Amino acid sequence: MKKFHVLTIFPEFFECFKNTGIVSRAVEKGIVQINTVNLRDYTTDKHRTVDDVVYGGGPGMLLKPEPIFRAYEDISQNGKPYVLITEPWGRKFDQQFAWELAEKDRDILIICGRYEGVDERVKSIVDEEVSIGDFVLSGGEPAALVIMDAVIRLIPGVVGDEDSIRADSFSDGLLGYPNYTRPAVYKGMEVPEVLRSGNHKLINLWRRWKQVENTLKKRPELLEKADLTQNDKKMLEMIKEGKTFEDFLKKYKL
Ligand code: SAM
Repeated sequence: MKKFHVLTIFPEFFECFKNTGIVSRAVEKGIVQINTVNLRDYTTDKHRTVDDVVYGGGPGMLLKPEPIFRAYEDISQNGKPYVLITEPWGRKFDQQFAWELAEKDRDILIICGRYEGVDERVKSIVDEEVSIGDFVLSGGEPAALVIMDAVIRLIPGVVGDEDSIRADSFSDGLLGYPNYTRPAVYKGMEVPEVLRSGNHKLINLWRRWKQVENTLKKRPELLEKADLTQNDKKMLEMIKEGKTFEDFLKKYKL
């Protein structure tokens, strides 16, 4: 079982997440456990104070180190977790990072910052700082949600059809392909004929063509790092020349 601990001053933030869709099913099946830990439970004063002023002056407050260390020590009693802290300047979260976390055989602890952030000494217990993008949130909770959601769906047994994970954007360095459902024609817009052909070899080729095309159009920089097959490279060349999927089939007699 994969266990997440989330250290936060707003544990209620995670209730809806834990009780919705794929995540709630993973929790019910016992594949995943999400333990929200209220930082205030680790304070020692009667006001349950978690923050204090910033040394050196300046606006805002900081999360104090003592409750965070206390919570960490408590959580670590059953083995040291892999500790993440949400920070706008942290390692950018992406699918590769999500895979790394899904494959860790330790609990994962996510410390959610608030206010101006946390006392820097907390970093002595942190394995990695993580950012969900170049923008500033008012707290780490939305970032923790994003991270857990992306990781949980990669854990075996969580998503019913594991092929769908492999076909997802970024799983092999390319973006995904477009999909359609019924009706076959809607407001004059037709579902591509190849998808209705029942020819799975052709459908797979078309999907791959669309992945390469989509990536070239929307995120060309991903192609530099992607592990392209010979077939992908042929497709890429033809897409760059402005050729169609039908041209590709004709040229390679497929
Ligand atoms: N003073 C910080 C700075 O200069 O970047 C911003 C603090 S922000 C208002 C409060 C907290 O939200 C941060 O400590 C962090 O935990 C979280 N946070 C904000 N932006 C984030 C991002 N892009 N990714 C992950 N966490 C973020």
